[in-house]
Amino acid sequence: MLQSELLAKVSKEAPKDEKSVNAQFLTRAGFIYKEMAGAYTYLPLGFRVLRKIENIIREEMENIGGKEILMTIFQPKSLWEETGRWSGGVGDIMYKCDDEGEIGLGPTHEEMLTDIVRHYVSSYRDLPQYIFQIQTKFRKELRAKSGLLRGREFSMKDLYSFHATKEDFLKYYKRAAAAYVKVFKRCGLSSLMTEASGGDFTKDFTHEFQVLAPGGEDTVIYCPKGHFSRNKEIAGDLRGGQKCPQCTETLKEAKSIEVGNIFPLGEKYSEAMKAYFVDKDGQRKPIIMGCYGIGPSRTMGAIVEIHHDERGIIWPKEVAPFRVHLIQIGKEKRVAKAAKDLYRSLQKQNIEVLYDDREDKTPGEKFAEADLIGIPWRAVISEKTIKKNSVELKERSKKSLRLVKINQAAKYVK
Ligand code: ATP
Ligand code: MG
Repeated sequence: MLQSELLAKVSKEAPKDEKSVNAQFLTRAGFIYKEMAGAYTYLPLGFRVLRKIENIIREEMENIGGKEILMTIFQPKSLWEETGRWSGGVGDIMYKCDDEGEIGLGPTHEEMLTDIVRHYVSSYRDLPQYIFQIQTKFRKELRAKSGLLRGREFSMKDLYSFHATKEDFLKYYKRAAAAYVKVFKRCGLSSLMTEASGGDFTKDFTHEFQVLAPGGEDTVIYCPKGHFSRNKEIAGDLRGGQKCPQCTETLKEAKSIEVGNIFPLGEKYSEAMKAYFVDKDGQRKPIIMGCYGIGPSRTMGAIVEIHHDERGIIWPKEVAPFRVHLIQIGKEKRVAKAAKDLYRSLQKQNIEVLYDDREDKTPGEKFAEADLIGIPWRAVISEKTIKKNSVELKERSKKSLRLVKINQAAKYVK
């Protein structure tokens, strides 16, 4: 992509109405455009990152048997009345969107998918099922002040599992948890599987995936050796400074961001909506369910909250909008040709490049913008480098520069 053609211009000024690190950097660097509190447009750079995060999630969900579907955002009131959730609880954070008050915009999709499943599943032979979607969700969030961390319109991957037995459910729950750790790791985030309240099954556990970040809205009490983590909201008398319940380490307490959440749902929805199956023994039973959410947009915000320095974002490789930021210094024909040749050659080798071909910017401006945008590799072509038939490479996360032959550049950045 040519930087000269990008619609959004990088800005030196922090937006006045944004307090969070993620919204400030992402806005300044031209990744997102704020429409209103808690609602952002993804500009070309931002949309590339969001897509990459979604694709990582998609791959890992498919790896644990997930089948992708796309449900409607419109929610019929009648379904939500079956579970009693149309008003009160989640129903109260749902945007109701038609004059008759019969349609809501989906804040979550348990009702809708349970309805679909009860239509198709009748026997234990039809189970288990693992169904997911990646879609926009809507919630009336009161505190939409943290940029992508808390949207009123935001993206969610929601997977729902349906089982004949509790044992089968528990086995899948563990597989999903392991897949979650993998997703976040690929996104450059080290996540803590954290005990939290709110389950409908065992009444005493659900799990959140929390990443430590000063800009987070949650607080976790965790073992630095990774043996234990619990959300402070439900931790009772437990505090940082006490002994880990699993080992002898001293617990710590820190701000964190919930990037994912897995829930045993038990028979709550299947009972309420009469989603039954006939078991091996001929008995009719409610289907046992679990649900598993990840916020791709919140994950994008969390990555920026964690991976940045005073100059800008430092994207982890797998989610970066491009792998290489190619910067041309000087307008001389020879320089421009060398830069263009390298641009094309990298593209041919399937290496994603943002090419700063602009002629009205000083080298200082270009470098500052590159640091703000945060692409993993910076490749500079100038009069000086082409004299040696070389390009100067620098990793965003490191200080050192190295001069490599132009035809070796692809090998380095791969
Ligand atoms: P929170 O406790 O932060 O309000 P939640 O527990 O209500 O979130 P879930 O309903 O479990 O969230 O949603 C699954 C995932 O969707 C969350 O783990 C989070 O990553 C993401 N998510 C939830 N609400 C938002 C939001 N308002 N903006 C962005 N992402 C969100
Ligand atoms: Mg939560």
